[in-house]
Formats: sequence, C-alpha cells, structure tokens
Amino acid sequence: MLIVMNHSASQSDVDAVSEIVREMGFRAEPIPGSERTAIGVLGNHGYVDDTKILDLPGVQRVIHVSKPYKLVSRDFHPENTIVDVAGIKVGQGCRPVVVGGPCAVESEEQIIKTALFVRKCGGDMLRGGAFKPRTGPHCFQGLREEGLKLLAKAGKESGLPIVTEVMSPDNVGLVAEYADLLQVGARNMQNFDLLRELGKIRKPVLLKRGMSATVEEFLAAAEYILAEGNEQVILCERGIRTYETATRNTLDLSVVPLIKEMSHLPIMVDPSHATGKRSLVSPMAKAALVSGADGVLVEVHPEPEKALSDGPQSLTFPGFEQLMCEIKQLTKFLGYC
Ligand code: PEP
Ligand code: MN
Repeated sequence: MLIVMNHSASQSDVDAVSEIVREMGFRAEPIPGSERTAIGVLGNHGYVDDTKILDLPGVQRVIHVSKPYKLVSRDFHPENTIVDVAGIKVGQGCRPVVVGGPCAVESEEQIIKTALFVRKCGGDMLRGGAFKPRTGPHCFQGLREEGLKLLAKAGKESGLPIVTEVMSPDNVGLVAEYADLLQVGARNMQNFDLLRELGKIRKPVLLKRGMSATVEEFLAAAEYILAEGNEQVILCERGIRTYETATRNTLDLSVVPLIKEMSHLPIMVDPSHATGKRSLVSPMAKAALVSGADGVLVEVHPEPEKALSDGPQSLTFPGFEQLMCEIKQLTKFLGYC
C-alpha cells in the first residue's frame, strides 16, 4: 500500500502517519518527492484497511498496490533512480552508458588490452566474467579470484569502473571487494538468497532478466534487492527464450519503454547475449538506445576467434570502435546532452 501525502503535509504529519502504520504492525517507508511525500507500507500480506489512515492530517489518498513488487514501482517512487557506479551515473537521462569487455577474463594481456581499447573508444565501464555460469561443467568456468584481480588491475590501468558477475551468496563479499557493479546473470535472476545478500551491500547491482522471466517476475526479483535496503539496481534485458532459434535469444526491446513506465530503475540492454551473433550486435545496440535504454552492455574481444566463451557474439576491436562512433552520432540525434 502507498500513502500519498498532500503538498502541504508537514514532517510531523508524515511522522504521525508512519507511527500509525507501525502500530498496525507494518513497516513505514517515507519517500520524499519533489512535489510531495509518499509513505510506503511494507510487510502486509493482503489488503490493509485504510479507514484509519485516510482520516489522518496531511493524507491525500491511499493506493493499494497488489503487485508482488512495490519498492521498484513508479507508483512508489515517481522520479527516476540514478545509479552511481564509481562516478558513472546510469539513468540520469543525460547520456547512455556503454559497458564493453570480453565475456570472460582470460589473461592479463587480454583484459588489459581490451580495457585500454574500450577506454580509448569512449566506453564507460569494463565488463568481464571471473565466475562464469556455463551450461556444461566441462566448459571454461572462469579464472575466479585470479580473474577478479586481473579485472581490477585492468580497471585501474584504464580508469574504467568494472562490472562482473557474482553467482553465489557466499561470494558476494569477495566479488564486492573488487567490482564496482555486481552482475546477477540471467540464470540466477531468481536465486533469492543471492538477491537478498546483494540487498545488504552498498555497491550497485546489475540484474539481468532471466531467460524465461516475465516482466513481473523480473521486477519482483529486483524487489528482493531493494527490500533489503540496496536501491542501487540497474535492470538489464538480455533476450528471452522463444520458439525462434535463428538468434540465440529473442531481444524483447518493448520491455525498455514498458519498464520505464512501471519502474523508476534504470534499464540497460545486452544485445550480445540477446542475439548471439556478432553482425546483429551493433544494430540491436542502436535500437536499444532508440527505445530509451539507459545504456548497453556489449562483448568485445581482441581475438574473438580464440575466445574461451562467446566468441561468435563478441565484437572485434574495429567493430566496437565503429559502434562507438555510431552511438556518438545517434545520441546527438536523440537529443542527449
Ligand atoms: C554474461 O553477461 O556474461 C552472461 C553470462 O550473461 P547472461 O547471464 O545474460 O547469459
Ligand atoms: Mn558471454
């Protein structure tokens, strides 16, 4: 439930309403807005009788939210959330961000070379998996902590914040020591213990949409992180599984404007995992930005033909450079500052 206060409600009106909510056995979360304050009511399972609340001074109206998510919804928080990743602002609406890097960290040379190139082309963050969620156990599983160290070194040398995946709740502390943005992969979107653990840290999280997740399930997964107190969450559409097999997944770009209506959280798009095909990555990255995405996440590798994972969908260095040029022109055209 959401309690919307009048423009003129005072702090003591807000405190008094919050107190009553707590007396009713729920949590009250005041959300100050530029025009008015709203108070989120949390911890209720089902309909809450609002008669007592509607009568209190300063209360304008009560919205009953029957969705499995509240904290992530726009009803609850009308202004866009801006996520700060080591100084890079995601969701500011000023400029889309580009995250580039290989699927996996493979060697010091590979990751440093890529980091410097991404930086040179104007990329904002460096990605690279150290813990890899591979479909089969015989595939390269990532360099684990060694990979985190190499990624951190590449981040330092290039000046780029680093993004990397965390797969288990036990590793959240370790990955958070190195990463500026912790990624939850599609396969772990509903690993609720992992989400809860990420809610307790003070670093931003990139939550990818599960390959069979509905929008409601996606937002409910984000809610787990916010419910533990971490509001720094970026959503990421990376394609869903459909009957179509010509592409690795089906990029559901309509969720970008849809999620912008439903939620205040920023949303990025990963056209690499969505398409699985190098030639489709740049067109879909640009389409994502036109649809209003706050940024794109693309795989780039110095020698994709030798990549230990996802080579066929990784951009070459010239391909990435070309995309960055096109993105610069596109963002001007789209009226970004
Ligand atoms: C990745 O980004 O490296 C990855 C494995 O992506 P996804 O979880 O979207 O498949
Ligand atoms: Mn990959």
